[in-house]
Amino acid sequence: MKNAFIYTDTYLDYDYGPTHPLRIIRLKLTYDLINAYGLLDLPTVQFIPTQKAEEKELAFFHDEEYLSLLRQANEGFPLGEAYAYGLGPGDNPIFPGLFNLSLLVVGATLQAVDFVADGNGAIAFNIAGGLHHAMRSMASGFCYVNDPVIGIMRLLRRGKRVAYIDIDAHHGDGVQKAFYHTNQVLTISLHETGYTLFPRTGFEYEIGEGEGKGYSVNLPFPPETEDDIYVWTFEEVVPELIHAFQPDVVVTQLGVDTFYNDPLTNLHLSIFGYERVLKRIKDLAPKWVALGGGGYNIFNVARAWTLAWAVMNGVELEEALPESFMTMALGMGIEESGLRGHWQTLQHRQNEENRVEMERVVRYIKEAVLPKVRG
Ligand SMILES: [Zn+2]
Repeated sequence: MKNAFIYTDTYLDYDYGPTHPLRIIRLKLTYDLINAYGLLDLPTVQFIPTQKAEEKELAFFHDEEYLSLLRQANEGFPLGEAYAYGLGPGDNPIFPGLFNLSLLVVGATLQAVDFVADGNGAIAFNIAGGLHHAMRSMASGFCYVNDPVIGIMRLLRRGKRVAYIDIDAHHGDGVQKAFYHTNQVLTISLHETGYTLFPRTGFEYEIGEGEGKGYSVNLPFPPETEDDIYVWTFEEVVPELIHAFQPDVVVTQLGVDTFYNDPLTNLHLSIFGYERVLKRIKDLAPKWVALGGGGYNIFNVARAWTLAWAVMNGVELEEALPESFMTMALGMGIEESGLRGHWQTLQHRQNEENRVEMERVVRYIKEAVLPKVRG
């Protein structure tokens, strides 16, 4: 049984634009660090080059009119009606090849899904995936097509029971909305509270509707939340939910924009907290489709997803980054030389208040949600 790493350098043909925070180069940087550590040469690893999805796959979730607009937007020219679909200057720019890039990202997620569903292995990682904000007929939050939703829908068609865990700093709103009325998918999102961050949703009282009541779970964290409270909250809620739901496959969105030095968000996690959560997910997931996500400090992205891939393969890495990688990183102005780096805890200014708030949220989830999933 192998673990699949799905990637292609073709991603680098596309560019959101010079001032956009989502930089495609972070994927290449991650691939290079993983490669420099020798993590693609392990006997447990199968490297799979990304293949584009067929266009019809996107139509399982997205609206035809919206897809036809994305096809036109692929030329890279402004479109009059685009604004109504969330496209245009700002978060979701129109750039040459954006539909091709979308097909690649969805393709890689479907390759990951099929890899585990076919029984080829227990884990597959698509670092380019995790575009969790895209809606049925709307681009949102740097996301044009929702590869987690499309991947989960294929798993459902293949008769699998799916739990989705989203640890991006932003609420996984697009995925939650897609499965808000069903009990066939359990969605769990840990994120910075909507009071202070896009997309302004993901409050604990959003728990699903109708048959889906109890199958959407939200853990909104206050700004400046640190590792200890974050990991405590995860432990209080997530393992019990997964044990009660008993998924065949766990799909995760592994955004790295929760770190204290991410330029777009306000949580104060470190790579140590991230690693602890990843190790727990590995214990909990019978099969694991891992997707990327946000992360706007590209060196954090490379280090965290390299560590994630090491966790998936049960490998302990040297703290010193490989020399071949450092030579390149120095050329990009990156000076830190450690995998995890030196993390000094901050002032703990907010710590006590944040702990009280998360104890309240955990109590709410245990009362309002857990009994429903337990059935
Ligand atoms: Zn994010």
